[in-house]
Amino acid sequence: MINIAFGPVPSRRLGRSLGINNILCKFCSYDCIYCQAGRTINKTTERRAFYNPEDIFKSVEERINKLSNGKIDYLTFVADGEPTLDINLSKEVEILRDFDIPIAIITNSSLIWRDDVRNDLLNFDLVSFKVDSVNEKIWREINRPHKNLALDKILESMIAFRDNYKGKLITETMILGNINYTEDSIIKTAEFLKELNPDRCYLNIPIRPPSEKYIKFPKIEVITKILSIFNEIIGKNKVELLGKFEGNDFVFSENVEEDILAITSVHPLREDVIKELLNKANISLDIIEKMINEGKLIKLEYNGKIFYIKNMKSRNIY
Ligand code: SF4
Repeated sequence: MINIAFGPVPSRRLGRSLGINNILCKFCSYDCIYCQAGRTINKTTERRAFYNPEDIFKSVEERINKLSNGKIDYLTFVADGEPTLDINLSKEVEILRDFDIPIAIITNSSLIWRDDVRNDLLNFDLVSFKVDSVNEKIWREINRPHKNLALDKILESMIAFRDNYKGKLITETMILGNINYTEDSIIKTAEFLKELNPDRCYLNIPIRPPSEKYIKFPKIEVITKILSIFNEIIGKNKVELLGKFEGNDFVFSENVEEDILAITSVHPLREDVIKELLNKANISLDIIEKMINEGKLIKLEYNGKIFYIKNMKSRNIY
């Protein structure tokens, strides 16, 4: 069975989220400079089938059956690429309803101008949109979009989607150290989010190794400035700064090696977390060295911490 489902992984936005990686690595319409899955290998806006929906169902079922303990708050489409590139999305949501668990998707929102994508997203209980900036120059610099994409069209379509969507809508905005955020660009992004009116706007900082080595952690003054403008325009009760470590509530099945690879293809794991997890599961740390020696795992240092990431063609090693 292909390892499409992984986790659950702890998330401040989604609680205990069982991840579904429904895309082959790394098909994406963006090539974000901070992407945790590395550089985009297949930059595309063409939707296609990646897996048979039945295989996705079976992978989720197998994963749920292996978990002896634990509630799952969401089945979450979160891929090492853009999940809405999957043309079978609606079919997959339909069959996953059998589990009676809310279904979420974390999308970069870039294909929202397509009617079929908007219709697919209406089926989710929670949709998370990426809105790093509504400033064209900053959008191009951070998200490195496919040449077919137009920011105006994406923003307009997000508003149109909002008018029809009955589920929970959240947004994510990444703050980076290398970007020249003008006051005007921050205000415009906040004004757009106010108009979009999500249930919650999350501000994020790059706590895990980004695709590009030159990405710097944002200065505290930049974070504070963006947070205060967002609070003022959108409202304090709707804005939340993420970026703290989200805990170590990962769950391993009996196949720890496969679990580590499935999680680290989407979500780099910090060394102290992996050690604690292996310790709890009574498994020797030698497994990590073995996986590195076999070329399955990569060790990276970022921001003074060691991380382990699945060795993928997309990953820029530094
Ligand atoms: S962060 Fe998301 S949208 Fe950006 S390149 Fe990575 S997978 Fe694509």
